[in-house]
Amino acid sequence: MNSLVPSGSTMSSSTKPHVLAIPFPAQGHIMPLMQLSHRLIRRGFLVTFVNTEHIHERLMAAEQPGKPSSQDFAGEIKLVSIPDGCANGSDRKKFGTFSNIMLKEMPGPLENLILDTNIRDAQKITCVIADVHMFWALEVAEKLNITRVAFWPASAATFSVVASIPQLLEKRVIDSNGFLIEKRPVHLSDTMPAMDPAWFVWLNVGQENEKESFQFLLLCLQSIRSDHILCNSFPEIEFPAINLIKNVMPIGPLLSDMHLQPSKLWTEDTSCLDWLDRQPARSVIYVSFGSLTLLNQRQLLELAHGLELTGRPFLWVSRPDLMDGSPAVYPDGFAGTLAAGRGCVVEWAPQQEVLSHPSIACFLTHCGWNSTMEGLYHGLPLLCWSCFADQHLNEYFIVEVWKVGLRVSKGKDGIVRKEEMKDMLEKLLKDERIRMRAMEMKVRARKNVMEGGDSWKNFTTFVDLIS
Ligand code: UDP
Repeated sequence: MNSLVPSGSTMSSSTKPHVLAIPFPAQGHIMPLMQLSHRLIRRGFLVTFVNTEHIHERLMAAEQPGKPSSQDFAGEIKLVSIPDGCANGSDRKKFGTFSNIMLKEMPGPLENLILDTNIRDAQKITCVIADVHMFWALEVAEKLNITRVAFWPASAATFSVVASIPQLLEKRVIDSNGFLIEKRPVHLSDTMPAMDPAWFVWLNVGQENEKESFQFLLLCLQSIRSDHILCNSFPEIEFPAINLIKNVMPIGPLLSDMHLQPSKLWTEDTSCLDWLDRQPARSVIYVSFGSLTLLNQRQLLELAHGLELTGRPFLWVSRPDLMDGSPAVYPDGFAGTLAAGRGCVVEWAPQQEVLSHPSIACFLTHCGWNSTMEGLYHGLPLLCWSCFADQHLNEYFIVEVWKVGLRVSKGKDGIVRKEEMKDMLEKLLKDERIRMRAMEMKVRARKNVMEGGDSWKNFTTFVDLIS
């Protein structure tokens, strides 16, 4: 908890600049913005962190008794919530529909919240940092004459694709609904690698959501007019994409850590750390599909069999809602594998501690951007199993550009077979060049956020600008 107490600051609460931070209501968006908030606290800021009521309740329910919590932190960060306006819970699962509901329902309550002088002992909010997908919060800030900061939590490459929508429309790569006219690889600039347009984020959110998601992303582009734009990346890995977005400041990697509570939607099962302690160095395959990916029963069985087939110890995060409808049914004998200590399954892991554990050999990941950055930060070879949204583009960078991982291939039915998993895991673990590059990446990622590193300098400049 001490690490969260602002250092080098003798300002009293009443003289501290006051930031309001508002993430998109999803795990992968809350976590990096919470980390950014904690960094601001260390630089002497007050932060009011605004979640939707739905998310706030889940965060509180997932809190672990006895663990340091942001709320304990001498009042430097205050968690508040406003309703998301969603009458039908299932709408929260459709990005475009949900975003449009929030766009309609949340600006009023947010404005009232900002104007409520009781929020922080009459300490006026001096800056609003909003997820780009909550761009309307920046419009509220503009109306109230408050500094606006847009925060992009995913890769700069994905951001550059979204920011290039006007050019993609003009060059007739896509039509006005975001659908492809051209299927040839796209070069957003001379220095950007060629991208398959089928990876565009709005084309990977489920067919029924594509058009609405595209139209919403077009609206999000307004946030590019903000006073400052931050992204969770670092220049060495995404230099060409970062260059394409005017004024963006990369400040990453922004990592989750054990002190970031409450920023987790499930309670972390720390028993897996004891299990990891009992495994040999660099032996364990860590498997996680992040917070949103769904598997069907056939895929779950292939995955479980594939892990058994490797003959290696594994730690698998199987969320309570991992399954596409039905409850998870594990193969016969799988319970015996776990009981024999060959594997460990948890509903939610303390991912940073897991990734930094010496017994971890590699990370089988769905390539969510946070997991990608965390994998790079810990220097792990990555086995990529991308599923939707920006994950295919992230996978492309991991495998083809940075060359720190391999990918599994899906069959025509969309299923990854157990033999494929086993073969690719073996190939990955034998590949010394990938391991060396992953170790180099670890050094580069860490250098960036250490004093004097590029991301550190950008963050320091940003702090000066909003102080
Ligand atoms: N995570 C975690 N414990 C788990 C699985 C995931 O703390 O058992 C965290 C992970 O460290 C990452 C976030 O959840 O910070 C998932 O974000 P990501 O962008 O990787 O994927 P998403 O959930 O958005 O698909």
